[in-house]
Amino acid sequence: MIFENTFKKFLEVKELFKSLVGDNKSVEDLFKILEKPQRKIKVYLPLKRDNGEIEIFRGYRIQYNNFLGPYKGGIRYFPEVNGDELNALAFLMTIKCALVGLPLGGAKGGIRVDPKKLSEKELENLSREYVRKIYDFIGPDKDIPAPDVNTNAKIMDWMVDEYLKISNSKDIKLKATFTGKSIENDGSEGREEATGKGGEIILERFIEKIGFKKPLTVAIQGFGNVGYNLAKFLYQKGYKLVALSDSRGGIYSEEGFNPELVMECKKEKGMISGCYCVGSVCDIRLGRDISNEELLELDVDILVPAALENVITKENADRVKAKIILEMANNPLTEEADEILNRKGVIVIPDILANSGGVTVSYFEMLQNLNNEKWSKEKVFEELEKYLSKAFDEVWQIKEKLNVDLRKASYIVALKRIYHRYVRI
Ligand code: NAD
Repeated sequence: MIFENTFKKFLEVKELFKSLVGDNKSVEDLFKILEKPQRKIKVYLPLKRDNGEIEIFRGYRIQYNNFLGPYKGGIRYFPEVNGDELNALAFLMTIKCALVGLPLGGAKGGIRVDPKKLSEKELENLSREYVRKIYDFIGPDKDIPAPDVNTNAKIMDWMVDEYLKISNSKDIKLKATFTGKSIENDGSEGREEATGKGGEIILERFIEKIGFKKPLTVAIQGFGNVGYNLAKFLYQKGYKLVALSDSRGGIYSEEGFNPELVMECKKEKGMISGCYCVGSVCDIRLGRDISNEELLELDVDILVPAALENVITKENADRVKAKIILEMANNPLTEEADEILNRKGVIVIPDILANSGGVTVSYFEMLQNLNNEKWSKEKVFEELEKYLSKAFDEVWQIKEKLNVDLRKASYIVALKRIYHRYVRI
């Protein structure tokens, strides 16, 4: 159902795309091909628990499409991971890489596990077992996994180590099999902040185009890697962060929060609630707690879902008051919500554009490993700005020319690249 809904939105551009390229047969064929992944891998992962018992976990890797290059996409650890959701995310990765102009295809993987219930040793053994099971299908010219929800640089380091062990090689080029590694282990400078930085680049371009003047108010749901880093960059650019939240609830202040102080406070307390940090002080009188539901319905200029999928649905879309939604999480709006918001005139900056900074810097990490280079953070961000600005400008041009929303325009830009490769295959 998740995939079906995601693909339905994509299907809406088929007729438009046909009229653009004037080759109905090839476009029909391409859409047929893109409706299915090229390969679905399902593996069973035995893990010896600390109590000596064997438990079997289920792992997946969906290799969606590789017309433009090796498959690329994250691995998530989550108790509810399932093939349908991963299929939708792998499809979106295919479109995202094409949109940004990366020579990469799309994939997504995961293990059905709650990593908080495993010891560190168990987590390491499970991660290594996953690599042993998918080893034949990955590599710098086949499929390049990366971190996603509940996976991180440490897990990528274990995975690449297992990969090198099996390969019996120390060749640094093989390290390009995984991205999102730690800096000490040939990861890239700036990868940690890349998705947030990318969101800032896209939002700034957009604000400039529509002529909005700062200070603009922003509410961000999710204060993890993406939400926190985006908040940090937007704060530096003069946006007013009036609401922030994590899984346990949110905080609100008309004055606007200082995200770095909020993060310090959250680390101390273990939650964001009560962290009313404005300017250089945190004070109980400076804000109030709000729920995650309230946050989504605040009267702000920009709303940023940066936590989970499907948080805005037909149930709450009508109550959304923001003028702009910057989709930093993948698939945060259901198809019905997307329609309702469009009708209300809310502008949605789609996930495949807004959160593409992460995969773009992952690509830079691959390049650095393959060419035995180390780029500074400045160079990484400079290159990121070039890629994302180009993608944004192409999307904007299509939006203006065809009078479509930004999601459809993004699909068309991505499709053009995939189509041109497809007709040459
Ligand atoms: P993360 O685990 O670092 O952070 C997630 C945040 O969401 C945490 O603050 C958590 O407390 C919060 N959260 C969890 N459940 C919540 C709930 N019910 N309500 C409100 N907040 C809740 O994850 P992340 O890497 O920041 O990823 C967030 C989203 O962005 C995901 O959808 C992910 O697929 C997407 N994304 C991440 C990257 C990346 O580079 N990390 C790239 C592209 C897309």
